[in-house]
Amino acid sequence: MRQSQLLVPTLREAPAEADAAGHRLLLRSGMIRQLAAGIYSYLPLGRRVLLNVERIVREEMDRAGCQEVLLPVMQPAELWEESGRYTQYGPELMRLKDRHTREFALGPTHEEVVTALARDEVNSYRKLPFTLYQIGTKFRDERRPRFGLLRGREFIMKDAYSFAADWDELDRTYQAMNTAYCRILERCGLNYLRVEADAGTIGGQGETHEFMALADVGEDTIVTCNHCGYAANLEKAAFQSSSSVEYIQAEGAGMGAEVSRIATPDVRTIAELSSFLNKKAEQMIKTLLYLADGQLVAALVRGDHELNEIALKQVLGAEELVLADDEALASQAQLTVGYLGPVGLGVRMIVDVDVAAMPQAITGANEAGMHLSGVRPGIDFALDQVERIRFAEAGDHCALCGEPLVFTKGIEVGHIFKLGTKYSDAMGASFLDRNGRQCAPVMGCYGIGVSRLVAAIAEQHATETGIRWPASVAPYDVHLIPVSWKDEQQQKLVLELEQQLLDRGLRVLVDDRDERPGVKFKDAELIGLPVHIVVGRGAGEAQVELGSHKLAASGETSRIQLTAQEA
Ligand code: ATP
Ligand code: MG
Ligand code: MG
Ligand code: MG
Repeated sequence: MRQSQLLVPTLREAPAEADAAGHRLLLRSGMIRQLAAGIYSYLPLGRRVLLNVERIVREEMDRAGCQEVLLPVMQPAELWEESGRYTQYGPELMRLKDRHTREFALGPTHEEVVTALARDEVNSYRKLPFTLYQIGTKFRDERRPRFGLLRGREFIMKDAYSFAADWDELDRTYQAMNTAYCRILERCGLNYLRVEADAGTIGGQGETHEFMALADVGEDTIVTCNHCGYAANLEKAAFQSSSSVEYIQAEGAGMGAEVSRIATPDVRTIAELSSFLNKKAEQMIKTLLYLADGQLVAALVRGDHELNEIALKQVLGAEELVLADDEALASQAQLTVGYLGPVGLGVRMIVDVDVAAMPQAITGANEAGMHLSGVRPGIDFALDQVERIRFAEAGDHCALCGEPLVFTKGIEVGHIFKLGTKYSDAMGASFLDRNGRQCAPVMGCYGIGVSRLVAAIAEQHATETGIRWPASVAPYDVHLIPVSWKDEQQQKLVLELEQQLLDRGLRVLVDDRDERPGVKFKDAELIGLPVHIVVGRGAGEAQVELGSHKLAASGETSRIQLTAQEA
């Protein structure tokens, strides 16, 4: 492919809204462009990466014996009413009406459609087990789309659904999918962990695991034990009953420095820990309120869960608080309350009080039309420094080996569930077993964020200057870069090399643009193909410079003399 003909609008600077390293580089390397919040176009290079990831996913699904289908995105509301999820799913479900005012949902996932299909088409144990999968567009009206392809509102997912005659059969499929997921993530060059997970809105009666790509921008917290290998999503993690929580108060007028350990009796699960911490949080915020003379200026709740806000409002009273989830405003606020956990009720709590920023925060909040009752501008806060009160996210675990737990951030790239008969029961799917008895098929479902994988790979392989794409997903294998395309000798050698590489089945990008070498090299680093071959002055002697990710990582290139045959 000739680069002069390819739409690769590289950028020297990342757009201001880009909020993660991988996202910035995907934009800068001209791979994607935003159309609206959480909605992206894939330009030619980005599309090639996406297709490569899709190919890996498809190969591994096929290897695991799954059958590819394509199910409709537009789904009648009645189907969602049958499963009970039309209301349960809430505002994340995108809804629309057709010209006859019939209601539809744009599929965020396809349990309903696929269960209806099985209900109509599968009625005997002889047809079981089987697994259907598809790779397609999903819609979720995420409350906070962010980090580009990591959390989109329109995104590409591979979703698979298995139907089995009993739980043993489901176990076998679950294991096969587990293996397939590990292979996919390894082939994509990802550093990942498989963790115990919580079922969320998909629900189900059996176990569920998430596959987490490790990255600081990850929105999930993973709890691991280096000693025994325990790994779980924080939402799921179990804590030992003797777990203790550190409660730290930093310096501040009226509040002496204090670090105390609070024993947490009978705390076994995150829910129990949450409720314990919540009580502590309430006491703490009330102390702050007291110190601030009852006039708390602003509290910003960060977190995806509306329940966080509701809980805080109920605990503390909306009158005293401004609740907002705007990051810009959050950075100016005097008081920031951050929660982790499935329904808020905090495992981690951070309180920052920045007196100097107070007036701006009030202005900011006013401009944003926030509720500000009880706020008095210019309030003389009793605390003279940034206050940081933190419940350490620590705890010794359980039940397991007793060693301390480690907390890491992860991107949920895949999720596998044992659903059981939740959907088959609700939607009346059944089959006749060997003994002629009517039974509900035992289901599993298995999702992988295909577009999220692209973003996760970009995130893990981002450098200062570009994304070093793993060879398995790179848009091309080799970047051939003549220092001067107009130089006849260089052009001749490049064309010969291109042909030889193509003959060996490699995908080649030739930078035939009339650009300064510096521009070409910068673009080449941004695009990040695994191998660069620079053809310059030595072309006459068949001398080229070879670069690869490995060499680049050590800051080297190697000058090589092509053999007569290669030249
Ligand atoms: P999250 O916790 O990040 O919101 P989820 O648990 O809601 O994800 P699932 O319902 O388990 O997601 O969907 C299966 C997979 O689809 C996820 O593991 C993830 O890789 C991907 N995915 C989910 N939501 C998005 C999104 N908004 N943008 C991109 N990929 C997504
Ligand atoms: Mg979600
Ligand atoms: Mg999740
Ligand atoms: Mg999930």
